[in-house]
Amino acid sequence: MGIYRKLYADFGPQHWWPGDTPFEVAVGAILTQNTNWDNVERAIGNLRSKRLLSARKMHAVPDSELAETIRPAGYFNVKARRLKAFLEFLMEGYRGSFKRMEGEDTSSLREKLLGVNGIGPETADSILLYALQRPVFVIDAYTKRVLSRHGIMEHEEPYEVFQGHFHSSLKPDMQLYNEYHALLVRVGKIYCRPRKPLCGSCPLDGV
Ligand code: SF4
Repeated sequence: MGIYRKLYADFGPQHWWPGDTPFEVAVGAILTQNTNWDNVERAIGNLRSKRLLSARKMHAVPDSELAETIRPAGYFNVKARRLKAFLEFLMEGYRGSFKRMEGEDTSSLREKLLGVNGIGPETADSILLYALQRPVFVIDAYTKRVLSRHGIMEHEEPYEVFQGHFHSSLKPDMQLYNEYHALLVRVGKIYCRPRKPLCGSCPLDGV
């Protein structure tokens, strides 16, 4: 918790995840793979102006039109196929509604999400945490870098081992996991760069 407290004291609340609905959050989680958030926002802006930000409408649109609409997010053909795979899952299993997932337990939902083509652990857990408010810690490259540089974990450890570290050392608190992940992304972007980390000015220097 030392890292969390230090980051929260320095950066304050991050107000994640930007998105008006659980569906929009899930779409953003898929679009943000291998790109930055500015590009995702442009792609989501295109989807919004074409009124495609609903499961039924996006499911019905041809793949080629969807790909063209999300072009700013990069890898747009691959991501259009991934969105369509996710929409199949959502339409078939839940008639397009996140509300119908509410009664389902988290581990069953996670297994199902991981079975969708193109959804790996980071995307599945982002959807669970930020769209469905489940207490699941999201691990990403920033988290791995910060923890390994502070000698807490080996960088090569698998996703589940990193996640296990958070799940075993923190209470299962959705709001805490939300904020903590967002803060790790913030420190990773600003200070903990892949090369030449800016430790001298970083709030985690000496932690
Ligand atoms: S920049 Fe340095 S002090 Fe900051 S998180 Fe990275 S390794 Fe730690």
